Amino acid sequence: MDNLDILVWLGETRPDRLDTLWQEADRCRRENVGPAVHLRGLVEFSNRCVRNCTYCGLRAQRRSLRRYRMDAADILDAVRYLARAGVGTVVLQSGEDPSNTRSWVAGLVRAIRDETPLAVTLSLGERSEEDLAAWREAGADRYLLRFETSRPGLYRRLRPGRALEDRLAVLAVLRDLGYEVGTGFLVGLPGQSRRDVARDLRTLRDLDPDMIGLGPYLPHPRTPLGRVFSAGGPRVDDPFPHTEAAALKVLALARLLCPETNIPATSALATLAPATGRRHGLDRGANVIMPNLTPAPYRRLYEIYPRKTGSDRSPDETLAEIQALLDRMERPAGVGRGDAPRYYRRVEVQA
Ligand code: SAH
Ligand code: SF4
Repeated sequence: MDNLDILVWLGETRPDRLDTLWQEADRCRRENVGPAVHLRGLVEFSNRCVRNCTYCGLRAQRRSLRRYRMDAADILDAVRYLARAGVGTVVLQSGEDPSNTRSWVAGLVRAIRDETPLAVTLSLGERSEEDLAAWREAGADRYLLRFETSRPGLYRRLRPGRALEDRLAVLAVLRDLGYEVGTGFLVGLPGQSRRDVARDLRTLRDLDPDMIGLGPYLPHPRTPLGRVFSAGGPRVDDPFPHTEAAALKVLALARLLCPETNIPATSALATLAPATGRRHGLDRGANVIMPNLTPAPYRRLYEIYPRKTGSDRSPDETLAEIQALLDRMERPAGVGRGDAPRYYRRVEVQA
């Protein structure tokens, strides 16, 4: 698929053509990663953050948000729950929190790996090569770090004081260290054009990740970008729509461009379209769900965006709801770690 094809698909609105895209993406998913839907238990253990991303409700300058940080014992309790429930992976996510020291995170990862068979995914933001190497050494398997947008000027506006090239450099380090690497971007940002999204998709293909995280931008009223969104956004030629269908188009194209990756139907998609988001995602390219298993008192406070799906459900209810969806869709839940075929192939070639 060349750039023009991507641009044309991104602009497509005819229902019969879109049906073709959905079917192609679903076939590509089935042939390359199979029928299973892998579950990744998400534990959002700290909402403290030193960064000021203009889109995110956890940004440091948001003084009104009560901050929390779970201790290692509480995190391990949540991880044991996951292991008992048969979930194969824990995803540990937080803001860029300086309390995530090299030795604290390494100790936590080691404890999880010693006690459970779970694969460990980290999503802790940009860190030094030394930190990332120590955590890999301790047994971390995967790392999620979205590049957020591939247009350097837009990136600078979204992440004040940060540069896209630095984020891409961290992704390269993660790859060299042998992590299974996940990346992706935000869809439907104010000021994002169809051309931008086409470039985001090309960047994704060129980065050749093992996992992809992409979802719709959800405006948070207490953030600078949320206020820009409410005011109608900056004027841009050919803006990319902020709809479920548009987000699904990007998901389907990501599957076609990166056939052997693991791709979740994200919570952001389920929040934008509560009745259909997850099901449509799994039907149009996705093969992963990340149930939020952050303990109840904290879940509400990890407010990246408002009204996050599942904010009011217990872990048991969350897992039961997902199982019911998989039963209805006749898709089996994945067993074991559920590594991406893309990663296996890469490791085989290197061996
Ligand atoms: N601090 C880490 C991990 C937590 S944020 C980091 O930034 O990488 C995880 C992801 O949440 C980000 O990569 C971003 O793409 C997404 N996110 C943040 N604010 C969002 C919003 N308003 N709408 C949708 N996704 C958002
Ligand atoms: Fe912090 Fe991540 Fe939110 Fe940026 S996106 S403010 S780094 S939690």
